[in-house]
Amino acid sequence: MDVSLNRIAELLKSAQNIVVTAHVNPDGDSLGSMLALFSVLQSQGKEVRLLLDDKLPGMYDFLPHIKEIVRPLEGEKINADLLVVLDASDIERIGRVKSVTKAPVMNIDHHISNRRFADYLYLDSKASATGEILAELLAVMKHPLNDEIATCLYTAIATDCGFFQYANTSARTLRHAACMVEAGAKPQAISEALERRPLSTFMMLSKALTSIESYHNGQISVMTITRDMVGDDDENTEGFINYARSVTGTEVAILFREVSEKVVRISFRSHRADVSKIASEFGGGGHIRAAGCTVHDVLESAKDMVIRTTTRQLS
Ligand code: AMP
Ligand code: MN
Ligand code: MN
Repeated sequence: MDVSLNRIAELLKSAQNIVVTAHVNPDGDSLGSMLALFSVLQSQGKEVRLLLDDKLPGMYDFLPHIKEIVRPLEGEKINADLLVVLDASDIERIGRVKSVTKAPVMNIDHHISNRRFADYLYLDSKASATGEILAELLAVMKHPLNDEIATCLYTAIATDCGFFQYANTSARTLRHAACMVEAGAKPQAISEALERRPLSTFMMLSKALTSIESYHNGQISVMTITRDMVGDDDENTEGFINYARSVTGTEVAILFREVSEKVVRISFRSHRADVSKIASEFGGGGHIRAAGCTVHDVLESAKDMVIRTTTRQLS
């Protein structure tokens, strides 16, 4: 059921035990949003559990309370009044957390591909980030900002719009970011924390750049990361795809990351084309210009299939 932000505020107010989660393969928006909401609800005296069914990339260690986020155990059950799912368009995207509690599900999201799985849905696909929606929720709740919340929400907003460079950056995005800076977020410190990567990641980037191939008269740029290019399973490839997207003439960039023999994680970025449609054909989703999916097949067939579908979309 679609609900208003006022209703979201009321539902949060009447719940005491709340589980908060977000999508696997976490990013700045999902983590920043979880931690901002944690700060708010905890200051209201609520019992809040932060669960996420994945490893957390080390680059987000600077976010306040990040250590509160834990991975649910196999078969773990929690008594809660509400399960809040942030920045996830599909219940499958929260992994094990979906079976942790029988509590009603509240979903706050901005993905155009949202599958409307929640009991209470607040979906704003014009918002650049879930963090932008939370900034508006806090205003409705009349909850004051502080530097912790501001750091989390600035990170959420800035990362999802590529630090105010992508097409989803609006005046509204910049206004919210400005409010967060006024409340204590430090843009330079946050950018620096997120840019810093171990040398091995840059070494992997050099291989990923060498892998770039062109299809469909240069309109499709493909980057491939095979298992042998990755030193450590945790290796963070966030942002790599932007290099493929920046190749002159590219309309759609695709990153294939071989996770295991028959699991390939795929990211799409575009300048104009609706890549959420392409990702949806493979069971994924996302936004018009940024989407993703996972294909359970060997790398070569996954590439073949996805490049063919993308070519068809662009023709
Ligand atoms: P990524 O390429 O992983 O940065 O993801 C780009 C966008 O697509 C993000 O908004 C993701 O939440 C979304 N996305 C990625 N993978 C999936 C998936 N398997 N299902 C639904 N949405 C996805
Ligand atoms: Mn996200
Ligand atoms: Mn997001």
